Amino acid sequence: MSRYLRDSLSALEAYTPGEQPKDTEYIKLNTNESPYPPAESVIKAINDNDIERLRLYCDPTQSVLKKKLAGLYGVKTENIFVSNGSDDILNFAFLAFGQNGAVFPDITYGFYPVFAELHNVAYTEIPLCEDFTVDKNDYLCTDRMVVIANPNAPTGILMSVDDIEAIVSSNKNSVVLIDEAYVDFGAESCYKLTDKYDNLLVVRTFSKSRSLAGGRLGYAIASKGIIEDLEKVKYSTNPYSINSLTLKLGEATIDADDYYTEMCRRIIDTRDYTTARLRDMGFTVLESSSNFVFARCDKMSGEDIYLKLKENGILVRHFTGERIKDFNRITIGTKQQMDTLTDVLCKILGGSDL
Ligand SMILES: *Cc1c(COP(=O)(O)O)cnc(C)c1O
Repeated sequence: MSRYLRDSLSALEAYTPGEQPKDTEYIKLNTNESPYPPAESVIKAINDNDIERLRLYCDPTQSVLKKKLAGLYGVKTENIFVSNGSDDILNFAFLAFGQNGAVFPDITYGFYPVFAELHNVAYTEIPLCEDFTVDKNDYLCTDRMVVIANPNAPTGILMSVDDIEAIVSSNKNSVVLIDEAYVDFGAESCYKLTDKYDNLLVVRTFSKSRSLAGGRLGYAIASKGIIEDLEKVKYSTNPYSINSLTLKLGEATIDADDYYTEMCRRIIDTRDYTTARLRDMGFTVLESSSNFVFARCDKMSGEDIYLKLKENGILVRHFTGERIKDFNRITIGTKQQMDTLTDVLCKILGGSDL
């Protein structure tokens, strides 16, 4: 740290992304990426001409992609915001709407408190229930920005659209942000409520269900006013935040929507298969509606399982928070990868050395 850094930033603890080691070929089940490649048409979407055109600025209005997204969801383009990954939208939202403070669960996406600190937003972390569900009653009439990941991470547990509507309708004077990073894996989206409530901001990403984590593309669906506010922040920071190659890939991705629906179906099947296998082995596995499972085993600490798996070439995500330190978050890969995972777990827990 230099002595020039402003005081408020010197105390800030930045977000730690999941490890992306380049030393060994791990089976990577730690950052919830898709095990499947983008659709063939997406892989072919970029040609030499697109590279040549990198000398020009990209479209700051992202008009083609917005139109495709609006068509897919049956909303107007004025209700769509597009960003460099959905983390960008979360960042903008805390900056734009956090004036009266924010509330979110104690166990959720670890970036929320970082954005709150970054923008000096006073925040309250509300404990999840004993069974790791979100109790909607904790979020009624808060008069502060409400931020909920649905399904939640790292638990994978779903909240109903009715519960979300109760929260949105009781917080008319503040923005309710629903982070739907994992909604395509079997949960119901609440985006249709944006028609009825001008305080609802639904945030989505191409990173998980659309095999484009490295492309950095996120989007939001909300009322015209909220979208205008996000645009204002974007045009006050980086108007060209999405490069032209990623824009083209995003457009081709929407055109290939059926392919991604099929890949999500496969991941859901593998998730259910993996959950059953882990439970057979004595694991406690929370009921997941996402592309990962959150699991613990009485026979070994969460950290030891994480370390032993890593020794055996499998990466999962371990968190150190008191309530969740016995768990590991395991991304759903291909069926073959999950078979390898459960085989290795059997050996680790059986005590035999590999
Ligand atoms: C992965 C994730 C994001 C961030 O996704 P990007 O679009 O890659 O920035 C946002 N929210 C949650 C809950 C996530 O798990």
